[in-house]
Amino acid sequence: MKNIIFIAPPAAGKGTQSAILEKKYHLPHISTGNILREESQKDTELGRYIAEVLSNGDLVKDDITYTLLKSRLSEDDCKNGYILDGFPRNIEQAYKYDEILKELNQELGYVIKLDIPLETLEKRITGRRICPDCKTVYNLNSETEKPTQESICDKCGGRLYQRNDDNITSFKNRYELYIEKTKPLLDYYDKKGILYVIDGNDSVEEVSKKIDSVLKKGM
Ligand SMILES: [Zn+2]
Repeated sequence: MKNIIFIAPPAAGKGTQSAILEKKYHLPHISTGNILREESQKDTELGRYIAEVLSNGDLVKDDITYTLLKSRLSEDDCKNGYILDGFPRNIEQAYKYDEILKELNQELGYVIKLDIPLETLEKRITGRRICPDCKTVYNLNSETEKPTQESICDKCGGRLYQRNDDNITSFKNRYELYIEKTKPLLDYYDKKGILYVIDGNDSVEEVSKKIDSVLKKGM
């Protein structure tokens, strides 16, 4: 059983590491955001409600998210483990997740926290550039991730752009909210003895190796 919860601040590389694990261990990558988006495309009363809430930029009621998450986690592809991304985000959701697992007769598994200095995150955020055509992500502040020419995609020649919320003010707000919400969550999982803190201030390959060694302990 390799149920994994990833907890990391914005721009810590959670998406990249999730994708690596997904491939390596054949684990489904489950995010409540994706579950809601999928449901919102269905022509049902629930689907239409979610579509409306999401299009208004509001939050879907917790109970609905929990029900959908539970149903997703009870599907066959989750039997041998899964990666849970973006949930739980706060202590209330953690309690609810415990209930869901109990009902599904599943265990918590691993909680992996990626630790990265604030300064590194700031560099990643402010240097991030994206190609609108092939979606490649670059970083002007990284020797290994910067494009050959500052605003041109190496792969397809597309004109790189910067996401609106990739600025220092927006990042600092997101980061502070993250710290405030996850502190009780991390304490909770630490007490249960399943919290693994990984130094994420390293190359993608090195961080991936560290995560592997945590997972191997329990396999
Ligand atoms: Zn491109």
